[in-house]
Amino acid sequence: MDLPSIKTAISSTKAAVGLLKEIISLNKNSEIKQKIIELQNVMLELQAGMLEMQEEYQKNNAENEPVNDWEKVIKAYELEQVSNGVFLYASKGEKNKHYICPNCYEERQKSIIQKQGDTYSCVRCKNTIFLNE
Ligand SMILES: [Zn+2]
Repeated sequence: MDLPSIKTAISSTKAAVGLLKEIISLNKNSEIKQKIIELQNVMLELQAGMLEMQEEYQKNNAENEPVNDWEKVIKAYELEQVSNGVFLYASKGEKNKHYICPNCYEERQKSIIQKQGDTYSCVRCKNTIFLNE
C-alpha cells in the first residue's frame, strides 16, 4: 500500500462516517439507529487505524536511508556521451571530474571508471569501456 492509496482510504472512510451521521439523523427506527451508531464507531476505529498506518508509512519512508542516499548520489551525475555511442554517468561540476559505471548505476551502486592501461574499466563489475576515437 502506498501513501496516495492510504490517503484515499482515509478520505473515503471520512465520507462514509459523514453519510452514516446523515442516515442517523434521518432514521426514526431506534433499532436501526443503534446499529448505525455501532457501524459508525467501527468506521471511526478503521479511520484511526488508517491514520496510524499513514504515520507509520511516513516514518518508515524517512528511515529508508539507502534509497534516499542513492537519490542524493545520482543528483551529482548526468548521462554523457563520452565518445561515439558510449554513454557514462559524468559527475557534474568541474572539480575531480569522473565517470561512473552505467551497469553499476542500474544496480544503484556508484563505481568510478578507472583507466587501466589503454582502456577504461569498472573495478566493480569489470565492465570495460572502449572509446571509439
Ligand atoms: Zn560497473
